[in-house]
Parts: sequence; structure tokens; C-alpha cells
Amino acid sequence: MMHRWASREEYWGYLATFLYTTQTAPIREPYQDLDALLRGKDFFILTTNQDTQFVKLYPEDKMAEIQGDHRFFQCAACCTDDTWDAVEPVREMISAMGDGTAVPGDMIPRCPHCGGEAFPWVRGYGNFLQGKKYEHQYDKISRYLLEHKDRSILFLELGVGRLTPMFIQEPFWNLTLAYPKARYIAVNDRYDFLPKQIEDRGMVIVEDIARVLRDARNAMEKGGVNSYD
Ligand SMILES: [Zn+2]
Repeated sequence: MMHRWASREEYWGYLATFLYTTQTAPIREPYQDLDALLRGKDFFILTTNQDTQFVKLYPEDKMAEIQGDHRFFQCAACCTDDTWDAVEPVREMISAMGDGTAVPGDMIPRCPHCGGEAFPWVRGYGNFLQGKKYEHQYDKISRYLLEHKDRSILFLELGVGRLTPMFIQEPFWNLTLAYPKARYIAVNDRYDFLPKQIEDRGMVIVEDIARVLRDARNAMEKGGVNSYD
């Protein structure tokens, strides 16, 4: 993303290829295994992934995407609170680009309000638009948490590193501490850390997530594990 592209057409050739790759990627195995584990359970997905894997599995009311989503464009300058479809424009750019590496200049996506360039609605390498769409994501997860605060609830944290613990990990720690019947499991490949205050309510599994989910699914389907009570 930081490369100094020779032209805006080349830059958009890269961006369109990147977005097209994730938008059209099949659902990967860890997601399918997680889906098998969740089947029949009351669950909600909170994700910082922007690559649309979860939206291929679940309706919007079962998930909150708090770092954006590759299916949408916003104004790069945030002149408006609107977001709009990126799937069709990306498909058209890819088709027009053919075997080349640049999109035609008149196909560069533009903001319908100010005429400036559009940008994917994602945090990380631009001006992430934290407007009504973003607020809506937080509304969904907040409502779910309030409705389930007295229930037996498992906060399952998958693949959160130490770069952005404030979006999922730290809220999960606080909620595990605050909710009377909450439990917490973290799976990641590096960090074996559990706050002292929730030591008796949680565990950390340091292992490849793909393997953990596959093993858990296999165990469940063999009938060994089908209750988490
Ligand atoms: Zn604009």
C-alpha cells in the first residue's frame, strides 16, 4: 500500500486486484470449521478482518465488522458519511485491465459528492470513515452483549496479536470479568498471556488456529465433545 506507484492508474490496478482477490476468495477451511462448531448455538461474530470471509457465511445481523469491509467504498477525503458498493466497480476494473497492471483513468472510482478518489472502507492505510456505518457495527455487538449478559457466555478470541488489543482482546477480558457466567478462551500462535483477574475463568491456547479448529471440529463430530457446559 505504501509503494510509490508510477500513476494513479497503476495504483488502482493494484488496489482492484487486491480487493477482487479477497471479494472472490472461497471460504477458507478454518472458517468452515468454526462454522461447524457454532452450528445450532447462539453466537455473534465480532471481527477486525476486512476480507469478507465472515460475510460469506453469516447474515449482517450476526456479525459486526469494526475495521471495515472490502465490499464498500468511501470518499478518500471523508467528505461524506456515505459508503457505496465496491464489488461491481472492482469487477469492471479487473475486466478492463485484462493482462495489464493499470486500470483506464476514467474508471478510477470517484466520490459522487466531491469528485475526489474513492477508497476502500477499511482502517489501516487511509482515512477510515467512522460514520453511521461504523456506529451501526458497534450498535449490533453492544445490543447482543446486553441481551446476553446474564447467560453462560464464552468469549472466544481467535488470532488477536499485540498490535491492536483494544478492539477485541481487552474488551473480552473486561467482559469476562464483569459478566457473572462468562468464560474466555484465546487462540493464537504466539502469546501465552492471561490477566491474573480472569485466571480461573479462562485459558490461552498457543497453537495454529487452523489446527485447533479442525481438531475441535473432529472431536465434536466424533461425539467426544458436544457440550461446553
Ligand atoms: Zn468526497
